[in-house]
Amino acid sequence: MRSKMRSETRPEVQAFVALGGNLGDAQATVRWAMDQLANLPHTRLLARSSLYRSAPVDASGPDFINAVVELVTRLSAPALLAALQQLEHLAGRERPYRNAPRTLDLDLLLFGAACISSPALTVPHPRMAQRAFVLLPLAEIAPQSVSPAQLQAVSGQTLSRIPAQCI
Ligand code: ADP
Ligand code: MG
Repeated sequence: MRSKMRSETRPEVQAFVALGGNLGDAQATVRWAMDQLANLPHTRLLARSSLYRSAPVDASGPDFINAVVELVTRLSAPALLAALQQLEHLAGRERPYRNAPRTLDLDLLLFGAACISSPALTVPHPRMAQRAFVLLPLAEIAPQSVSPAQLQAVSGQTLSRIPAQCI
């Protein structure tokens, strides 16, 4: 019955969200999305990784900008997914075909220790272990979540960390 509980009475859960985009000003969009995630109801943003640049994998278009954030949230996993999809929509995300270039992609990587397999949501994210652009930013903010063997498995993928902006 936990999924029917009101958000304010749910226990806090640690969640990790991957951000990516390769259309428009992707760096600005990813930073905007991080700020929006920090403002979600019943949610706090605990950590944000650096931004990374990666070549498209199984996709076309310009290089991607990628990052990962750590949240603690009282939202349920489906409610958090709905919030992520709303932010994608606000950023102008369109899905003309599979793996199309996108202004913003928000993927729920981990939701506490939950294993979820529903038509709309699979957690842990099924492809996260194959992607350096997920594992490296995740390891930056949560080293205990990524094993050396996982990092070794994606070491052939090129990824460059974007230096932090001077303000
Ligand atoms: P992708 O991220 O694989 O390129 P999309 O962003 O278009 O593709 O998402 C396709 C569908 O994946 C969404 O409609 C969503 O319901 C589903 N999905 C399943 N598991 C997850 C997850 N962990 N995080 C985000 N979306 C997910
Ligand atoms: Mg996605």
